[in-house]
Amino acid sequence: MPGSVHESVLDAIGATPLIRLRRVTEGLAPAIYVKAEWQNAGGSVKDRAAMWMIRAAERSGALGPGGVIVEGTSGNTGIGLALVGGFLGYRTLIVVPDTTAAEKIAALRAYGAEVVLTPGGLPRDDPRHVINLAARIAEETPGGWLADQYGNPANPRAHHDTTAPEIWEQTGGRVTCFVAGIGTGGTLSGTGAALKERGPVRVVGVDPVTSAYGGGDGSPYYVEAIGHYRHPDTVDDPWPANWDRSVADEVVRVDDRTTMRTARRLAREEGLLLGGSSATAVAGALVAARDLGPDDVVVVIAPDSGRAYLSKYFDDGWLRRLGFLDEPDAHVPGPLVG
Ligand code: PMP
Repeated sequence: MPGSVHESVLDAIGATPLIRLRRVTEGLAPAIYVKAEWQNAGGSVKDRAAMWMIRAAERSGALGPGGVIVEGTSGNTGIGLALVGGFLGYRTLIVVPDTTAAEKIAALRAYGAEVVLTPGGLPRDDPRHVINLAARIAEETPGGWLADQYGNPANPRAHHDTTAPEIWEQTGGRVTCFVAGIGTGGTLSGTGAALKERGPVRVVGVDPVTSAYGGGDGSPYYVEAIGHYRHPDTVDDPWPANWDRSVADEVVRVDDRTTMRTARRLAREEGLLLGGSSATAVAGALVAARDLGPDDVVVVIAPDSGRAYLSKYFDDGWLRRLGFLDEPDAHVPGPLVG
C-alpha cells in the first residue's frame, strides 16, 4: 500500500496504525497490538483532543479571529494546540510545570507557542499550580480561551469519534480488551465508552502504583503525563471531569521500575522507542493478558515516542541516580477493581 495523501497537516491527525507486539508478549495467549499514537502529526495522542477542542470552540464561538489559545499542560496537549492553533492562525500560550522534559518545552517553542514555566509538584489549590495559572492567564488575556483538557467534553469526544472507530475497524470488530493510561482520562473514557457501545470490550486503565486513580496515596512517581499526583497539602482535589470511572472495568497498577524496564525492552526487543506512559500501559496490558485466551485481541494506546525522554528512561545515569538499575525486582501489584 502506498502512503496516504493529506491535504493539510490536520488530516495527518488520527488514522494511526496498530502494531502487534511479538517479543515482550512471549507466553501470553492473546494478540496484543499497540496503537501507534506517536505517528500523529504533532507526535502524540493529544493531537486528536487538541484538534477537537479547538474545532468545538470555533463552532461555539468561544474561539474566533484574534483569539488566544491558553492551556496548562505537561507538554503534549500544548504541542497539539500549538500545531493546530498555529496552522489556523491563533496565538498559543502554554503553562508548563518545570519538571517537564526539556525536549517537550523546546518543541512547544519550536511550534511557536509562548511558554510560561511554573514550579511542578505544587498543591492543587496553589495559585501557581499549572491549571490555576493557566485559568488566570486565559481570563486576563484579551481573546483568551482556556482549552481545559481536564473538563472539556471535546477531549473524550475526539476519542469517541476517531480512536474507537479506528480500533473497531482495524481489528474487524475482534477487539476484546482495550488498555490505556489515565492522564485527563480523555483517551480511556472516550475510546472505552465508544468501544463498549459496539461490543463486549473489557476496558483496563493503567496507573502508576502510587497515583490516586488506581487507589495509591497520590505520592510522587517518575512517569510523566499520566496518573494523579496529590500533594500532601492539597485539601480539595476532585477527579477530572473527563475521567469517567464507570468506563474502566479495572485499573492495573504498575510501579516505576517496571515501567522503565518495559520501556527499554520495547525499544531493544520490539524496535519500538516509546514514552513512559506507553511503557506503563504495555506493562499493564501484559498483566491483564494473563487472564485472556487465544481468541482475545488486546489494543493498547501508545501515546508518544521515547524521543522526548532519551535523557530520562533511556539514560543509564538517570536510572542509576534514582536507583532503578540496582534495586531488586519490584513487586507489581495485582489488578484492582476500578
Ligand atoms: N501519555 C502521554 C504521553 C500524554 O501526554 C497524556 C496526556 N497527558 C496521556 C498519556 C494521557 O492521556 P489522557 O489525557 O487522554 O488521559
